[in-house]
Amino acid sequence: MDNPRIADRLDAFASLLELADANSYTVRAYRRAAETIRPAAVPVAELVRAGRVRELRGIGPGIEARLRELVETGEIAELAELERELAPGLVGLGRYLGLGARRSVEIARALDVRTPDELREAAAAGRLRSVPGIGPKTEARILEALAREAEPRPERGLLLNRAWELVEGVATALDGEPAGDVRRWRDSCQLLAVVCAARDPGPVLARFASLPQIVALVEQGERRAVGVTVEGVPIQLVAAEPERVGTALMRATGSLAYVAALEPLPDAPDEPAVYAALGLAWCPPELREEPFRGEPPALVEPDEIRGDLHCHTTWSDGRASVEEMARAARERGYEYVAICDHTPAVGAVRGLTADDVRRQAEEIAAANELLAPFRVLRGIECDILADGRLDLPDDVLAELDWVQASVHGGQRMPRRELTERVEKALRNPYVRCLSHPTGRLINRRPENALDLECVFEVALEAGVALEVNGLPDRLDLRGEHVHDALRAGVQIVCSTDAHSVRGLGNMVLSVRTARRGWATPEHVANTRPLRSIVDGR
Ligand SMILES: [Zn+2]
Ligand SMILES: [Zn+2]
Repeated sequence: MDNPRIADRLDAFASLLELADANSYTVRAYRRAAETIRPAAVPVAELVRAGRVRELRGIGPGIEARLRELVETGEIAELAELERELAPGLVGLGRYLGLGARRSVEIARALDVRTPDELREAAAAGRLRSVPGIGPKTEARILEALAREAEPRPERGLLLNRAWELVEGVATALDGEPAGDVRRWRDSCQLLAVVCAARDPGPVLARFASLPQIVALVEQGERRAVGVTVEGVPIQLVAAEPERVGTALMRATGSLAYVAALEPLPDAPDEPAVYAALGLAWCPPELREEPFRGEPPALVEPDEIRGDLHCHTTWSDGRASVEEMARAARERGYEYVAICDHTPAVGAVRGLTADDVRRQAEEIAAANELLAPFRVLRGIECDILADGRLDLPDDVLAELDWVQASVHGGQRMPRRELTERVEKALRNPYVRCLSHPTGRLINRRPENALDLECVFEVALEAGVALEVNGLPDRLDLRGEHVHDALRAGVQIVCSTDAHSVRGLGNMVLSVRTARRGWATPEHVANTRPLRSIVDGR
């Protein structure tokens, strides 16, 4: 049994465990093990037989036992059992049609169907009504969903990090390229796509259908297929002839409006060739939202970021110490990092009092001694109170190198009150940056009522930057708002708001979001050297 095959089975196991509501730590552990095993240089089956598989990163005794079973018997009994019980193909299709996982399994049992095709047949024959709990209304809704099933668009988008993970996994397995919304780094992804070059599309389509991520096919054509994941998310595969891959990639990347305005696209083997044939400069995917034919600006690049100005430690709700975060930031090639823990008003988690801030200073000084010339900045993520005052006295803020001001409680204030509250905070002479300005949580909480035009004006006057928060469920400011901020002349900061060493990796999400707002390095404060950060105001 070769490494990809072993990794596929572990991935499938992870998906089904997730479906069976297993603990998310276990699910992640299996996914990570699959990630380690797939590209491993040594044959993992041999390591298992030699009793040495735990030398691989992330493989503990539990996973070792499953691997031994898989290598010795060719299967994992519990996985086969879960596949029988849960009918992942139907669950994926059910979720795609707007049904919950449990409901899908109930329907499958009641109708005694095992595959998406059998479900379609049963539905067409009017058998859905015989399922307890399905009335004429629900039946009509499912039939309608089945009828428009070939249109690959889920109701709510996937977070960008999860969407990338999915699309990249499929693209790597098929030796193709990620396309669709992820390639444009949309904050919430609905159209996921992978483009492959193939003279003969048969093998790649077959491989696609057999991937562990794809539990059911909802559409299959000669050079195109749409599969759904167990979460019910559709992924489109395009298998283009080699001399047309560039054209296919561009179409699959979108947006629809952007591409439509450039049609008819000439056939070309790569994207730069398509643009050249159109007489246009190549356009970074982040800018392909609205129709555009001009010369794109030199957008900020992730490697131009010199430091992360918003991260947490165990002093508040982070998981790593000051020194661990600082070392990890240094390893990323940064020159500086600002430690910005919470203040008491944040409520739900521990916040730092004036006293804590001064004690933390000693820890930061010690880290600086160890890590020089790398610089750990004394920062804070200071709550903006309901009346616009800050949660720490000015004399404490004055000691710090970097002050982020944040609205946490009271996001639902009416527009005028909230705007005045934030403006007052921005006028505090020590505030350097407004964190996650709109306060949205993607798919969970809408943007607040803040009048951004007014905030931009005050920020410009006061010399305060606005954050592009890189947490995958925030991405706040989003691209459109970044664009407005830059037009108003305001600086932005690309930050991760990391709560762990791993969280520092979200910088790429922040930078890509800034690029969607047309940001060049000059617009981004933390592309500048340390000096300009500490003497900034
Ligand atoms: Zn915050
Ligand atoms: Zn934070």
